[in-house]
Amino acid sequence: MAAIVSGETRSTCPYCGVGCGVLIKPDGVGGITLRGDPEHPANRGRLCSKGSALAETVGTSHRLLEPRWSGENVDWDTALDGVAKRFQEVIAEHGPDAVAFYVAGQLLTEDYYVANKLMKGFMGSANIDTNSRLCMSSTVAGHKRAFGTDTVPGIYDDLDEADLVVLVGSNLAWCHPVLYQRVVAARESRGTRIVTIDPRRTASCEGALHLPLQAGSDVALFNALLAEIERRGAVDATYTDAHVAGAAEAIAAAQASDPADTGLDAALLQEFLDLWIGTDKVVTVFSQGVNQSSAGTDKVNAILNCHLATGRIGKPGSGPFSVTGQVNAMGGREVGGLANMLACHLDIENAEHRSAVQDFWHSPAMPRQAGLKAVDMFKAVGDGRIKALWVIHSNPAVTLPDADRVRDAIAACPFVVVSDMTADTDTARLADVVLPAAAWGEKSGTVTNSERLISRQRAVLPAPGQAKPDWWILAEVARRMGWGEDFAWESPADIFAEYAAMSALAAEFGKDFDISALAALDAQDYDNLDPVRWPQSALRQGGRFFAEGGFFHSDGKARMLPLVPRAPASTPCESRPFRLNTGRLRDQWHTMTRTALSPRLSAHLPEPFVDMHPQDAARLGLEPASLVQLTSPQGKAILRLHQTEDVAPGNLFVPIHWTGMNAPAARIDALVAPLVDPISGQPESKASTVAAERFTAAWYGFAIASRAFTPSCDYWARARSSTGYRCEMAGLAVPANWEVYAKELFGMGDVAVQHMSDPGRSRHRIGFFDGDVLLAALYVGPEPVALMRDFLAGLPGQEAPWALAGLARGDIPDPGPVVCSCYAIGRNTVKLAIASEGLKSVDQIGGSISAGTNCGSCKSELASILRECAGA
Ligand code: SF4
Repeated sequence: MAAIVSGETRSTCPYCGVGCGVLIKPDGVGGITLRGDPEHPANRGRLCSKGSALAETVGTSHRLLEPRWSGENVDWDTALDGVAKRFQEVIAEHGPDAVAFYVAGQLLTEDYYVANKLMKGFMGSANIDTNSRLCMSSTVAGHKRAFGTDTVPGIYDDLDEADLVVLVGSNLAWCHPVLYQRVVAARESRGTRIVTIDPRRTASCEGALHLPLQAGSDVALFNALLAEIERRGAVDATYTDAHVAGAAEAIAAAQASDPADTGLDAALLQEFLDLWIGTDKVVTVFSQGVNQSSAGTDKVNAILNCHLATGRIGKPGSGPFSVTGQVNAMGGREVGGLANMLACHLDIENAEHRSAVQDFWHSPAMPRQAGLKAVDMFKAVGDGRIKALWVIHSNPAVTLPDADRVRDAIAACPFVVVSDMTADTDTARLADVVLPAAAWGEKSGTVTNSERLISRQRAVLPAPGQAKPDWWILAEVARRMGWGEDFAWESPADIFAEYAAMSALAAEFGKDFDISALAALDAQDYDNLDPVRWPQSALRQGGRFFAEGGFFHSDGKARMLPLVPRAPASTPCESRPFRLNTGRLRDQWHTMTRTALSPRLSAHLPEPFVDMHPQDAARLGLEPASLVQLTSPQGKAILRLHQTEDVAPGNLFVPIHWTGMNAPAARIDALVAPLVDPISGQPESKASTVAAERFTAAWYGFAIASRAFTPSCDYWARARSSTGYRCEMAGLAVPANWEVYAKELFGMGDVAVQHMSDPGRSRHRIGFFDGDVLLAALYVGPEPVALMRDFLAGLPGQEAPWALAGLARGDIPDPGPVVCSCYAIGRNTVKLAIASEGLKSVDQIGGSISAGTNCGSCKSELASILRECAGA
């Protein structure tokens, strides 16, 4: 595969751990065109809605273009000298553990390697942790306990070849859409069965057997499976005798476990057990629903126990499969981005490993023990133990549990540096120094996806302004701290070569991560590097692990572990009766710094919401579209009510994406308690306990404008639209003069105003016009305002003198909320097509109105609309 083909450059999507290949071409005016790479083995040309919209997220309008120190632009020398000096001073005065790096799974492997080398090898502390701690560190811990190292045994082809795919705590349809499409394709072509294990009904349940287990009861479920495997004589004794230790103890613990803890109907549970045991080719996929738990590591091992007991591991179509959240979460695991790891899967607390790495790096000082994991790191920032913090491409002021305390801790930290592509994040706004980092499309390096496939990201655009690659920024600070010779790379290719050479140490210590065969790549080879699966050594290239044993414990055997189910750390009670689950949406990524730039993606679900069962809503006296306030001991959030039977009574679901930049009252991690798994340190993000009540505002509003605006009321949530911005609003105090309020809100000067009011009923509609062209409008009333929102959102900048009616004109239909992002097709349009043409299948919908025919990410929603229309 050539790096450049017909003017298109091969690269990798920057979002999720599927790691799809893309073909990018500069469009000549600062942007790009982009399509899926048909030759990339992860996606074979497919992209999901987020990947398809990448071209809408490049550009410079939102970018940080120069280094800033205390809000003033400075040159790079001033910024880098200052950062190096402050870190040196803190280390000299308070010791190396008074400094910390908090990095991200968005970093390229080369950037990660440099950050890790600088902190662990030269600054002399292990206080570097990554936001992947919040994503899949329980999997790392579970793999290490079972296999002796953090190895993903399988590859994506297993999903094509399996007869049964079990999704545990994984809404694959929304969070790893291209992989999900591969599973659906297998279902269509060879009848693969899908089971979804999730307390919540998600898009991944469409056409699957759904097991709505009690939150946190995964260990009880897989213990039940292991006990049943034993009862039915399905243990592969040949495999376990040769390759596994601890089977008898694990089975005894499973037999002592109570399947009733799962809360599942006995017949449904039995159907699952029969299916799993009766299907030889079974892949169990798991992700955040398993990992983000105070018992996450045990959950991982409960799944691994069943695959080890049956020898269903590392074989075509068979094995446990952790899917990673971020594009380079796996690369971070390999390179030592976690505070308890060294590079190349070596252990920081192992003196021999430490010494070998120190020799390799010619390092002056190596920490002897693990550093602070994410939650503890920010506690240390809060209590003053950490006095200098460098945050790279992450937004912990929003994403850490107990986010308000984390925000306060960062604000109070004596010295905070943030490297990012934008200064408009909750965390960057608290920093003393913000450094402009190159973004996706401008930087070059490698990423590793969930199946151990290393792919190149390649630069196709020049970095704007003074923006620089992360490896360069880190190496320049290292040079200014006196370690220039050890950080003297000239390119990412140099760094990769050093890293690959270092991985030979892993082989010396009997570890898995050995890519030493790639150490001899020259710059040209590196530039042309095709996707390649590790390991890559003289002895072994790619492939699956463990079909014939060969585990990485000293005796070469895997470990099955005796596991006792533990409920989530927090128990619902009278004052906090609801169980709060948090997670991702189909069309947004993390804290939206990139995806919120796309009007298409923003149109899918433009406002933060809480899923609540109708019985609970009725009990609380809530009507559709009410605002709901959730409260925990940590904080509060205000969200729009979405009544749905997808969540069970007593359970809530809230998406994670909104921040102080676009919906300050909806930062959901402000409510999540900082409770962690004792082994992995991963927070329990899916089982908090909260109270819920109506948020009664004095007024509710909806605003649209062609330019950005920032309200100052008690609740607001702003999103891009195709012609500008849309915003939901609510306030406790009624402004004295609505026209004055609206003018200030939109920053309007001397333009024409239309004001329709019904003062007796406190309703106002105020529009600003240039001739007949609508500039902005505000619709307010004493209760949530009924409007054709999705239609109105497209009006700013258009001739629309009738806009204050709030309705679609008779000759222009209201499309409703967007379902298909690729073709901007709304729910009403889909329903109309189904009703008027008698459509019966997702394919027929695609044939009629094209919905679902590009990336396919919306196919599950189309299927659910079909069911709804059929009255199912
Ligand atoms: Fe990107 Fe979507 Fe592929 Fe994930 S599935 S890598 S978000 S295109």
